[in-house]
Amino acid sequence: MSSESRSAPGVGHVGPLLSAKCTSCGKTSEKRTAEIVGDPSGGSFRHVCHSCQRVIWWNVLEVLSDGGRSA
Ligand SMILES: [Zn+2]
Repeated sequence: MSSESRSAPGVGHVGPLLSAKCTSCGKTSEKRTAEIVGDPSGGSFRHVCHSCQRVIWWNVLEVLSDGGRSA
């Protein structure tokens, strides 16, 4: 029996998995993006917020997984 690498089903974006906070409504959520502005452990990125129902800036709270690194 071989050990399989863990994969995250249902995640449609590449890049590290982040815990992040919406700068508009303050909602925290897990997001995946490869387009962080600034330091990946404390930067910002734009992503859709389902509470605000638009693309908004998110602040990175914590890097949960460093998977999906390109090349
Ligand atoms: Zn929001």
